[in-house]
Amino acid sequence: MTFKDLNLIEPILKAVTAEGYTTPTPIQHRSIPLVLEKRDLLGCAQTGTGKTAAFAIPILQLLSNQKQPKRGIKVLILTPTRELAIQIDESIATYGKFTHISHTVIFGGVSQLHQTNALKRGIDILTATPGRLLDLMNQGYINLNTLEIFVLDEADRMLDMGFIHDVKRVISHLPEKRQTLFFSATMPPEILKLASMLLTNPAKVEVTPPTSTVDKIDQSLYHTNKNDKPELLLHLIKEQKIQSALVFTRTKHGADKVVKFLTKSGVKSAAIHGNKSQNARQNALNDFKNGKLTALVATDIAARGIDIDELSHVFNFDLPEVPETYIHRIGRTGRAGKEGVAIAFCDLEQHTELRDIEKLIGKRIPLIDKHPFPVPEGARPEKRPPAKPQQRTSRYSRGR
Ligand code: AMP
Repeated sequence: MTFKDLNLIEPILKAVTAEGYTTPTPIQHRSIPLVLEKRDLLGCAQTGTGKTAAFAIPILQLLSNQKQPKRGIKVLILTPTRELAIQIDESIATYGKFTHISHTVIFGGVSQLHQTNALKRGIDILTATPGRLLDLMNQGYINLNTLEIFVLDEADRMLDMGFIHDVKRVISHLPEKRQTLFFSATMPPEILKLASMLLTNPAKVEVTPPTSTVDKIDQSLYHTNKNDKPELLLHLIKEQKIQSALVFTRTKHGADKVVKFLTKSGVKSAAIHGNKSQNARQNALNDFKNGKLTALVATDIAARGIDIDELSHVFNFDLPEVPETYIHRIGRTGRAGKEGVAIAFCDLEQHTELRDIEKLIGKRIPLIDKHPFPVPEGARPEKRPPAKPQQRTSRYSRGR
């Protein structure tokens, strides 16, 4: 199966080829024909599966094929975070660069002037976060009467982040007659209820149950004391000559502390979390993508969906409380078929979290027990069978 087999128009095929894509991912292969048939879609998929192109490509094609397009916003893509909104708009720019479709992105935390100017020029595809969208709708800059396609992205995250009422308010302004594409990584009852409210006879597409994405990632586990984690992180970054590491901490304060320690130790790093301004977050992300930073230290909400092609390592500096989050985190590496490495630190207070994660992924995370900051054997959760040593550069694990 190639992109050509999906009956895409030439300008889109050209853009996809220029991006170096040859084969559609499973969600693209299954969703693109359905969206082109103007079906409503219920997609169960997370970022990293090629979800953005799965909706962006057929939407661009549907708009490009319109003989006498009406003026006004035709497509609204609602997504929970600023980072995701920017990435989606960038993807639309990439896949649509040989079409004449206009697009823009709006999100909060920055001045609205640039955004309202873009809206005044008239656009076809609007990507937005809920708060700024409602704000600009209330100010009269946005009218959704001409809308033809509505995409709700990361619906479960909307719920987690407390945006569900904003989302419902937006929905109340949409024309009844429209095509709706609904994406969520998980389908808890409240999300299914929302989906049934929004969708008419939807086609259902479910790709790679989350746990299967972990198989291609080289995972390892280090037991260590809480206070030794920064040193262990530094040791591994230096020893394994890591160029790009996304480091997850549980708290914003924890993220700042790690950055302070790494910076003091000569590792270029920055934090992204909700207390940072939008500009600071975007700068940190750009610096990381451009290789100016070795480590980006993040909390889950800020990092969800961050798309960095060259990311080689993900560190679970703190294990997450919700086991699914472990899969979302390590899914930031090993994207689109590339190899990735995920390293988890477990301190003495995190044995329950570790057990839950291993239950979810259905296997033990390979243990590296020869390292400079171990905990005494008796303080480990239980006797674990030693993990098969994996091929890695660590002198502590090589052949011992
Ligand atoms: P997404 O799930 O939309 O966040 O996409 C994850 C990553 O996969 C992005 O870096 C895309 O550029 C990349 N990608 C999407 N579709 C393909 C494809 N068919 N072939 C190769 N890479 C892809």
